[in-house]
Amino acid sequence: MTASLGSRSFTVAIDGPAAAGKGTIGRALAQRFGMAHLDTGLLYRATGRRVLGGEDPVQAARALTAADLAAQGLRSAEAGQAASRVAALPEVRQALIEFQRDFARREGGAVLDGRDIGTVICPRADVKLYVTASDAARAHRRWLELRSSDRELSEAAVLADLRARDARDAARDFAPMRPAEDAVLLDTTDMSIEAAVETAVTVVNERLEQGRT
Ligand code: C5P
Repeated sequence: MTASLGSRSFTVAIDGPAAAGKGTIGRALAQRFGMAHLDTGLLYRATGRRVLGGEDPVQAARALTAADLAAQGLRSAEAGQAASRVAALPEVRQALIEFQRDFARREGGAVLDGRDIGTVICPRADVKLYVTASDAARAHRRWLELRSSDRELSEAAVLADLRARDARDAARDFAPMRPAEDAVLLDTTDMSIEAAVETAVTVVNERLEQGRT
């Protein structure tokens, strides 16, 4: 089913640890249902990158532009670690809330993926998914993604990077990574991309059907 939502807003919140499949599922849902998609990790990565360049974290978050989000190198492990450090600062998160909430209210629907979408940014989202996978599966997938640009990278190094980031993201005081109470849990460890996407599509379709009755 690919019915357009027309002028309705409809928010899909996808959270979970690094490299669990949130982005892939989010992009696929957005395409299938004609919704807009926001990878909220990019906001923190772009902030982290400006901080690596010497800026103050809060000023950097407030000054983000579209060009920052399109910058080269945002997917690197270094940008990911910088993102995770600035993401622990309440003022940085605060500076990024309004943009994310405005995006979520778009006509035609929006899919946002991150760590706190279902808990803090959009607690009333129409659909909440919490996507996980084993540490080994996540490290393997991320290593496959990164090795074309970094032939030296080992899977063990990717695993250590993901674990460090997850630990920091889950332990922070403000908006820690955790599933919302009403989130549908999706463990993609033994699932193909297609199967994970189809499961998510079914959840969204069920919610859209409920909205019609
Ligand atoms: O999703 P991604 O791995 O690109 O996110 C990079 C970092 O940004 C995460 O490790 C996390 O610290 C932070 N983040 C966050 N809240 C979000 C999205 C990302 O704290 N909604």
